[in-house]
Amino acid sequence: MTHLFKCARCGKYTLHDDACPICGGHVKDPQPARFSVQDKYGEYRRRAKRGSGKVPAA
Ligand SMILES: [Zn+2]
Repeated sequence: MTHLFKCARCGKYTLHDDACPICGGHVKDPQPARFSVQDKYGEYRRRAKRGSGKVPAA
């Protein structure tokens, strides 16, 4: 999967990760959801681990 960046100034997508080749504006990652997915998986794994493990009923 090609990683695309989005210019914060003109909104164009670019492969450049430092600056927009069109307007020279700052580019940012348009898909921060990747981190959320990673987080979700981590939470799911943690929950599954906790659920499968023996949890002493208080
Ligand atoms: Zn731009």
